[in-house]
Amino acid sequence: MKRNRIVALIVGVVAMGFLGMTVANYWVSRDWIRQAIVESDLPLTSDTLYSEIQQDLLKPIFVSSLMAHDTFLRDWVLDGEKDPEQMVRYLEEIQRKYDAFTAFFVSDRSHVYYQNKGVLKKVHRDEPRDAWFFRVGGMNHPYETNVDPDMANNDSITIFINFRVLDYEGRFLGATGVGLRATAVKQLVERYQREYHRTVYFVDRKGSLTLYGRDFDVSEPDIRKRPGISTIAEGILGRDQGRFEYQKDGATIFLNSRFIPDLDWYLVVEQNADEALAATERTLVNNLLIGVTATLVVTWLCAVLVRRSHRRLEILVATDPLTGALSRLSFGVIFAQSRQRVKRDPQPISLVFFDIDYFKAINDRYGHVIGDAALIAVAERLRVSVRSGDGLCRWGGEEFLLLLEDCDLIQGREVAEKARLAVMEDPLVLAEGVVLNLTISAGVSELKPGEDVDGLIARADAALYAAKAAGRNRVVCAN
Ligand code: GH3
Ligand code: MG
Ligand code: MG
Repeated sequence: MKRNRIVALIVGVVAMGFLGMTVANYWVSRDWIRQAIVESDLPLTSDTLYSEIQQDLLKPIFVSSLMAHDTFLRDWVLDGEKDPEQMVRYLEEIQRKYDAFTAFFVSDRSHVYYQNKGVLKKVHRDEPRDAWFFRVGGMNHPYETNVDPDMANNDSITIFINFRVLDYEGRFLGATGVGLRATAVKQLVERYQREYHRTVYFVDRKGSLTLYGRDFDVSEPDIRKRPGISTIAEGILGRDQGRFEYQKDGATIFLNSRFIPDLDWYLVVEQNADEALAATERTLVNNLLIGVTATLVVTWLCAVLVRRSHRRLEILVATDPLTGALSRLSFGVIFAQSRQRVKRDPQPISLVFFDIDYFKAINDRYGHVIGDAALIAVAERLRVSVRSGDGLCRWGGEEFLLLLEDCDLIQGREVAEKARLAVMEDPLVLAEGVVLNLTISAGVSELKPGEDVDGLIARADAALYAAKAAGRNRVVCAN
C-alpha cells in the first residue's frame, strides 16, 4: 500500500512536470507564432508585394514620360496632326519596343484617340468612359495611373499610365502613355499564395474585389458584405494601413491591409491562424505522447526499483544476517500466522528455547570470530535437524527459538532432543586447529488456550533455566 503510494507520487510528479512543460511550451509557441504572423510575416509580405508592384510600374511610367517629352510628338501636334499614320507608327514602335499592351495619345485640340493599331475614336466630355481624359487635362500632377474599370473579366484588367503632354509654353496638348495587362500583378499574387500559403487580393476604395488569385471565392465581391470580413471592412477602407483579425467558419484569420496609391486599391494579405498553428498542435500531441510514454516507463522503473529495494529490506529485517535464521522481529509475525491457523483448524503448537552451553568461554578463549563461526555452525545443525516449515529464529546472543506447528509437548521434546543430539554428535571444525565439542540445552513449552507469545516464551525460558541448572546438555519440558 505504502509502496504503491510512493510510486504514485513519483509518477504524479513526473507526469505533472511533463504536462506542465508541454502545455507551457505550446502556449509560448502559439503566442510567438501569432505575434510573428501579425507583426512581421504579414507586414513583410505586404511590403514586398507593394515594392514589387511599384517596380513593375516604374518602367511604364518612365516610358510614358519619354513619350510626353518627345519633340516629335509635340511638334506633330503643334503642326496640326496632319498625318495620322505617322502618329500610329510612332505608337506602334513604342508598344513593340517596350512590350506594352497598348500605347496611346489623345489630342486635346482634336479629341482624337490615337492608338498603336490606328485611330480609335474621338473622346467626348459627356461619355463616362472618357472622363479620365478630362480629369488628366485639369490635373496638377504630371501623370496618373488608372485601372480600367471594366472588371467583368478579372484577367483583362489594364493599368494605364496617363501622362500629360505640354507644349513648349506649358500648355496642355493631350495625354499619352502605355497600358499594361494586370496579369503580371496577378501572377505575383498567385506566386505569393503558392509559396507562403497566404491569401492575397486587392479591393478598390468602395470595397469591391478587383484582383485576386485563382480559386478565390468571389460569390460576394463586396468586402462589406462578405461573411466574416464584413465586420472589419470599414476599418480596412478607412485607413492607409492596418492589422486586423476576423472569424470565418470558426477559424481566426489575420489580415494586413495597405493602400497602394498607384493603383488606387487596397492590397490585402490574409493568413489563416489555425493553419499556421496546426504544426504547433501536432508538436503538442507528439510531446504529450512522448510524455505519456516516458511517464509509463518511469512508472514501471519506479515500481520495479521500489519492489526490489522493498524485498531486499524485508529480507534484511526478516533474517539474522549472521546465521540466516529468522530475526527476532519475524518471530512475532510467524507466531501470529500460526495462531491464526490454529484458530481455523485447532492443533497444538510448541516452542523450543535453545541456548548454547558455556558459550562465553568459547568467545573468551578463541575470540569473537571463532565465536561467530560456532554460532553459524550450531544454527546450521539445528536447521538440518528440524522440518523445513518449522520456524527457527535467533532470539539473541546464542539463543534460538523454534516454533513447531501441529506439535504437542511430547513431540516438541522429541524435536528438541533430536536437535541436541545433532549438535553434540560430531565435533565442530571451526578453523584450522579449532575443533570444538559443543552442547546445547533446551526448554520446551506447549501453547495453552488463551496464552500469549510472551507467556509461551517465558515458560520455555523457565524450562531452559531448569535444564541449565540440572547440568546442561539436556531438554526440559515446561509444566
Ligand atoms: P550458559 O551455559 O549458562 O548459557 O553459559 P554461557 O557462557 O553461554 O552464558 P551466557 O548465555 O550468559 O553467555 C552468552 C555469551 O554469548 C555472551 C556473549 O559474549 C556471547 N555472545 C552473544 N552474542 C554473540 C555473538 O553474536 N557472537 C559471539 N561471538 N558471541 C556472542
Ligand atoms: Mg545465553
Ligand atoms: Mg549460553
